[in-house]
Amino acid sequence: MKKSIQFSSFLLIILLMACQETPPPIYNTYEEYPVYEGNDLGLTFTPKKSTFKLWAPPAAKVMLRFYEKGEGGTFTKEVEMKRGGTGVWTAVLKENLEGQYYTFQTLINEKWGAEVPDPYVKAVGINGKRGQVVDFEKTNPTDWANDTKPTLKKPTDVILYELHMRDLSMHENSGIKNKGKFLGLAETGTKSPDGAVTGIDHIKELGVTHVHILPSYDYMSIDESKLEDNNFNWGYDPQNYNVPEGSYSTNPYDGAVRIKEFKEMVKALHDNGLRIVLDVVYNHTGVTEESNFNQLLPGYYYRQNEEGGFSNASACGNETASDRPMVRKFIIESVKHWVEEYHLDGFRFDLMGIHDIETMNQISAVVHEIDPTIFIYGEGWTGGDTPLPENDRALKKHTHRMKGVAAFSDDIRDGLKGSVFDAPDRGFASGKPYMEESVKFGVVASTQHPQLNYEKVNYSNEPWAGQPSQTISYVSCHDNHTLWDRLTNSQPNVSEADRIKMDILANTVVLTSQGIPFLHAGVELLRTKDGEENTYRSPDAINKIDWSRKTTYKPVFETYKKLVQLRKNHPAFRMPTTEMIQQHLKFMDFPEGSLLVGYTISDNANGDDWKEILVLFNGNQVDKPVDIPTGDWTMVVRGGEIDEDSQIQAKNSVKVPASSAMIFYKS
Ligand code: CA
Repeated sequence: MKKSIQFSSFLLIILLMACQETPPPIYNTYEEYPVYEGNDLGLTFTPKKSTFKLWAPPAAKVMLRFYEKGEGGTFTKEVEMKRGGTGVWTAVLKENLEGQYYTFQTLINEKWGAEVPDPYVKAVGINGKRGQVVDFEKTNPTDWANDTKPTLKKPTDVILYELHMRDLSMHENSGIKNKGKFLGLAETGTKSPDGAVTGIDHIKELGVTHVHILPSYDYMSIDESKLEDNNFNWGYDPQNYNVPEGSYSTNPYDGAVRIKEFKEMVKALHDNGLRIVLDVVYNHTGVTEESNFNQLLPGYYYRQNEEGGFSNASACGNETASDRPMVRKFIIESVKHWVEEYHLDGFRFDLMGIHDIETMNQISAVVHEIDPTIFIYGEGWTGGDTPLPENDRALKKHTHRMKGVAAFSDDIRDGLKGSVFDAPDRGFASGKPYMEESVKFGVVASTQHPQLNYEKVNYSNEPWAGQPSQTISYVSCHDNHTLWDRLTNSQPNVSEADRIKMDILANTVVLTSQGIPFLHAGVELLRTKDGEENTYRSPDAINKIDWSRKTTYKPVFETYKKLVQLRKNHPAFRMPTTEMIQQHLKFMDFPEGSLLVGYTISDNANGDDWKEILVLFNGNQVDKPVDIPTGDWTMVVRGGEIDEDSQIQAKNSVKVPASSAMIFYKS
């Protein structure tokens, strides 16, 4: 008896030992977390088998649960995931899970996180609360396999048009049925009641090459279950990076619908000769403590301040740590997913200065290996201080250290219209003297040019672009006032006709400068947001494009269209290298503060038909006589009048109209 008791105790101990959890590894710093090199994190689906993998090195336990719906109800199945090497937890289910919803939950430091989708989730249900098993093969629109991108020979051929999904279609006069939806941007043949062409046809008519859409991955601020409320948000509050936003789909409950409709939009743009860029916000998450990243793996995905809390270079409560290997890997794989699954043609990185240079270079290398014509650019600044050493930040001044990555030029933007931080301030186009060098800096796309006095450029005292394709030239975007509202603010006492001259002068500079021109959607219709500056959650009434303006300001639209065409017809405005610009582009001498900028582009630059081109900008609100280089010149631009077939000749001197550009050529 006694012996058998002893034996049982021994068995019990063995049993207890066998049942005891393997204790989680102890890590003292995030740098000690093992790095996983595989490319199969998240769900790998086939109709016969689904494999789920989650990277969570310090976890003691990871649960995977399945549901019938994207929200509510109790789980139908629960699976305890198995720990493998390099911190990866795996569950394999040999059945067809298509349509089911799922969540992950981790136990770390004896605390369960919330049930959330994993970072790599590619399909979700309503409001992005649960992942969904979707058969991606079934999400492809008709003829998706033959989807062909419009030709793009060189990055300097890009002309960008920045658009919010709702702005294009929400106005009752847009003539677009699928208002505020991805499908709205796929609708052709739409017209306003006045008969003006709207929507995608309008963009095509304008002649730009790329439509840049504001954040359209799954973001938080719009309740997808209350779409009838018609709430508006720019969407800079990411929730699920690899999933399209539900409120832009016709059914946010079914994860496959938003995927299919996003692809239909891409296909329609491509079929209409337009490429598509996605605005991506990997620099922070919409919520901090409660984010999917942080619930599954506290802390790792974010940078910490000296006190150990979340640092906040985004000014939105947190900043991601792109310099940590598994964050960098996540961003690279996410971008790859959008390229491969959705056929995207470019990415605009929000607050790119928060990312490290190495990450941006790796993204560029990976993406350009798949497709060298993909265009990458970003905001070369941060929204606040970051613990990332300054020398490592993907800032504008470091653009020349990033291959195949461009940055926005706030130099030319504010040089033309005045500082965005000072609403009444004016710039060259609105008559402020001493901005000439900033305009010239914009003309040469922030590159090295022997005639520039960099000391006198508003924000940069040295060239920051290695090549012209690294500069985004613009005067307005979704942030801050529209160009028209800005001119109204800073020049309240001039007539509408004079303000139109300033508007056209500003974008004539943008569209004739070297580098990549960027237009804010609706600028070609003198778009107004009723003077509101930060409209990130203003109603559609403020944000939507009013298509009646296309009729009211028809001559303005025609001018924008001709300026775009002028750029496309003349490669001299799109020189691909800094050396070529140095060789062909020569500035004229005007006294400082004269509000005059002039230059010539000589010797059929970049294969142009025109042997020599003369460009003059007059920011003065009065006409200015200017002596021009010798020879007979043909005038093609005089303010809003543009005619490439013009026979008007000029010699010796010309009078440049107030707040206007003039362009001439010699054949
Ligand atoms: Ca959402």
